[in-house]
Amino acid sequence: MPNKIELKMIDNGLDFILRSFNDLENNELKYTALHLYSGVLLILKERLYNVDEKLIFENTNKYNRNSLRNGNFQSVKYETLLSRLKEANIIIQNEFKAELDWLRSERNKMEHFHVNIRIEALKSHIVNILIHLVPFIKNELVYNYFLDEDDEKLQFIIEYLHKYNGYIKAKLKSIEQQEHLKIQMIDGLQCPYCSNDTIIIEGDSEAYCYFCETRFTDFEVEYINENYNLHEIAIDGGTDPRYECIDCRSQAMIYIEDSHSYICLCCGVWYSAEQIATCARCESQLVYNKYPDEPAFCDYCLDFFISS
Ligand SMILES: [Zn+2]
Ligand SMILES: [Zn+2]
Ligand SMILES: [Zn+2]
Repeated sequence: MPNKIELKMIDNGLDFILRSFNDLENNELKYTALHLYSGVLLILKERLYNVDEKLIFENTNKYNRNSLRNGNFQSVKYETLLSRLKEANIIIQNEFKAELDWLRSERNKMEHFHVNIRIEALKSHIVNILIHLVPFIKNELVYNYFLDEDDEKLQFIIEYLHKYNGYIKAKLKSIEQQEHLKIQMIDGLQCPYCSNDTIIIEGDSEAYCYFCETRFTDFEVEYINENYNLHEIAIDGGTDPRYECIDCRSQAMIYIEDSHSYICLCCGVWYSAEQIATCARCESQLVYNKYPDEPAFCDYCLDFFISS
């Protein structure tokens, strides 16, 4: 592809979303809806643009780079936009789509008639849209390198949402309802960034937080640094919280008090405290507690017995 024309859609989209937060705080409900809708649409268009420039023309036969550069063209309409994203295997979840449809119809009514919006209803719809929009931005744009993770506007949006009670509650509830995720999360294993127990360790020290939508590529290190001071432990002679994992052998298994369990920060395997014992000889290695009434020994100590 020739050099990409920078349309600043994502930047403008994030601006509109920030503006909608302002409107909401000033009780300008009409503008909240208008700006949020424009913002979300620009972000979806940006994603489509990154599939192929042509696709943001409603009529792709009319595509030419000059029109694109001048912004002098009919850009893709809502329904076309969604169906083209789908064709490109970019997933807009059903609930997200339903909320966008709602926002779109409200926006149209607002533009043409005088409508009274109920503030609580509007707020709950807005929250639902944002619950889907943030993971969309992270997964489709940030983790595909179309947007910098540290982008200032994105950071503002996330910071704002993480202070907004309605958002926090709804987001946690939506995670709670996704059973396949919930079952993999450990109570008390807190995200080093947002402190929610919404982490899933995917292996190889990679982990994902489903609350703040952060992908960790070195979870073990980030978690330990956030929760312990290894340097101080080494100097003051405290106990290192890390054990050797009985599955993957990395020095990354820790005890989590809240869920009374041991979890490996590297491979993600976890056992309840009852399933685990400390080796009866060296008292430092963890072992799988097969026969709870008998002393258990680690492989190293068993080797020692055999060779001595
Ligand atoms: Zn988090
Ligand atoms: Zn492990
Ligand atoms: Zn041992």
